[in-house]
Amino acid sequence: MANNYISKTAFLKFEQCHKAFFLYKNHYYLKDKLSVDKQLTFKRGHDVGFLAQQLFPGGINVVEKDSNKDNAIAFTKQLIENKTPVIYEATFVFNDVLVMVDILVLTENGYIAYEVKSSLKVSETYIKDACLQHYVLKNCLSDLIDFFIVTLNETYVFNGELNLKNLFKRRSVLKDASRNETYIQDQISNAKLIIERNVIPNVEIGKQCTSPYECDFFKTCWKDKITEESIFNLGKVNKDDLFTWYYNGIKNISDLQKRNDLPRHLKNQVESQVKKEAHIDVSNIKEILAQIKVPYAAIDMEIWGQAIPVIIGTKPFQKVPFLYTLFSEEGNEHFFFDYEIDDRRKFAESLITNTQKYQTLLAYDKSLENMIILELADLFKDLKNELQKVASKLFDISDIIQHHFYYHYLFKGNYSLKIVSKVILNEDLFENENIHTGLEAMNSFISYRANSNAIEKEILKSDLINYCMVDTKATFLITKKFIELTKVE
Ligand code: SF4
Repeated sequence: MANNYISKTAFLKFEQCHKAFFLYKNHYYLKDKLSVDKQLTFKRGHDVGFLAQQLFPGGINVVEKDSNKDNAIAFTKQLIENKTPVIYEATFVFNDVLVMVDILVLTENGYIAYEVKSSLKVSETYIKDACLQHYVLKNCLSDLIDFFIVTLNETYVFNGELNLKNLFKRRSVLKDASRNETYIQDQISNAKLIIERNVIPNVEIGKQCTSPYECDFFKTCWKDKITEESIFNLGKVNKDDLFTWYYNGIKNISDLQKRNDLPRHLKNQVESQVKKEAHIDVSNIKEILAQIKVPYAAIDMEIWGQAIPVIIGTKPFQKVPFLYTLFSEEGNEHFFFDYEIDDRRKFAESLITNTQKYQTLLAYDKSLENMIILELADLFKDLKNELQKVASKLFDISDIIQHHFYYHYLFKGNYSLKIVSKVILNEDLFENENIHTGLEAMNSFISYRANSNAIEKEILKSDLINYCMVDTKATFLITKKFIELTKVE
């Protein structure tokens, strides 16, 4: 298998699905286009990895000048022979598996390897990834003494100066590696067999397509599966049930019509699909709407949280609010905070003042807003009562959708505000937005803060305000629509 190494990424694909592994190795061109969110996540991983290298400064980066894998292997060998104290991206091959170790450090007793993850937790996938690397390394380096996964430390609080030793924490995988050694070896042999057979493995779509990650070949395998009538358009359905139906020939929602073992929410979805009309449970919707007190406004917040904290007193990934918008009968307002300094207190005070005149604050899934307000209440004890009062006014209009008191077959199992408002209002309020996800919004805010060009800053700021405002507007308008739909004739 010369020059056809199994990389760590390929191995993890094999773990998820043999077909994904084969396509990755032989039909890479079929890979789905990388979403903006995935690109941003990769960039974050790269930035954190780069910073973690400074735990062991002065290392030599094997792939910095030449990314050719065989050259990297040869260069690593040379650096090991020269007893180089710190190597970044040290590249090894054993049993046709190629791994690149983030940081390799030579100590008095032997080598210690570090795999850096821009995360707070060590997942099962990270352990498998590290076990594979350990397997290769221990067969290439006789004096490997330990292998650590390095993650961000959730208890670290930024005090104005980054303390890398406290920012990162490490966990040895030696025990996991020894427990999984035979498994890893067997899996490598199985993966090699698939390459040798050179036939696309016959794997049906299944739960593995989205777990642990959405597969990179999703569009290839699923392109004919999600038709207008498909059971994959059902929402909040147990994945085991879904695929059992699918494998037993139940492919369309209408095939479920005669079943009497479906929970209420699925019955409502089936009924809506078959009749091609909305399911509306007027009395339950009315009961929910009766809790709204006038005057009311819709509210939405944008938050910002970086892997490496930059605001004094915050932790890695801590969510910091920088924008909120209000939409009411009287019009709309936005409140933007640029965090030249820590603006959390200003944000909290502004929120208290500007929401005072409303009895109810409508949100579409209030969990984020609730969490932010209660965190601010915790931080500023003198504002606690007033902030708790703001939190108590939050009202989650998405309950109507989440409980299936209103369901429209055109939702296709998607309960996002974007889809729900498009169907209910018969208008796509989001179509002209330049920002599409919360992660994109966070990244735009980071760009806003880093940008020194006043015009570019204004454009970024305006995109962010529009992105937040459209959510608020959609929330307000669907509430009005529900009120209208349930009025006594
Ligand atoms: S989409 Fe599903 S079946 Fe297709 S390659 Fe990926 S995991 Fe395998």
